[in-house]
Amino acid sequence: MSRSNNSSSAKDFLSDVEKRSHQNLLECLQCGKCSGGCPVASEQVPGPRQLVAEVLAGLKQKALSNPLVWHCVCCGTCLIRCPVQISIYRVSSALCEIAHEEKMAPSVPDINLFEVLFLKSVENYGRLKELRTIAEYNLRSGHFLKDVDKGIRLMLKGAISPVEIVKGWEKDKRVSSIFEKARKIG
Ligand code: SF4
Ligand code: SF4
Repeated sequence: MSRSNNSSSAKDFLSDVEKRSHQNLLECLQCGKCSGGCPVASEQVPGPRQLVAEVLAGLKQKALSNPLVWHCVCCGTCLIRCPVQISIYRVSSALCEIAHEEKMAPSVPDINLFEVLFLKSVENYGRLKELRTIAEYNLRSGHFLKDVDKGIRLMLKGAISPVEIVKGWEKDKRVSSIFEKARKIG
């Protein structure tokens, strides 16, 4: 592939992310104030400054597989600290969307699985059914005993009721229909 093709696909990627996220990433000063306040940035999860740098450089595969895209908790700290008001969670959401459309395997599969199960519970039952969701998450992720101790403590305090396992779960058609309409809108 020629150099000009490379640079035009890098520009296409940048403008696609800017369009989807409604952010002007060219204004980024690379000051790092966002990374300094990001609660999920660590040695394993690069901070938001690096994510923006990857998008600006047109490093599509690197940006799409950046773990921050999955770890971002949409807290908005980066936006508050940014001198040019760039909202990184909008950038992360745009990258998630592109990765999903391109059928890329999520770089952090466990977070993706949890998101899928969370939304499935809300769609089916109108709210998060903790026990059911966590049981399915543990089974499907292979972390069979993950957080079992916390679950038992929550049950003992009455925050989670084991009765719902016996009673089963009632579906909430009103919420399901909202999901259905959203799918039709696309
Ligand atoms: S705080 Fe804003 S300007 Fe500074 S690196 Fe982060 S996104 Fe760029
Ligand atoms: S919104 Fe996401 S990227 Fe920004 S500070 Fe919070 S976790 Fe970090």
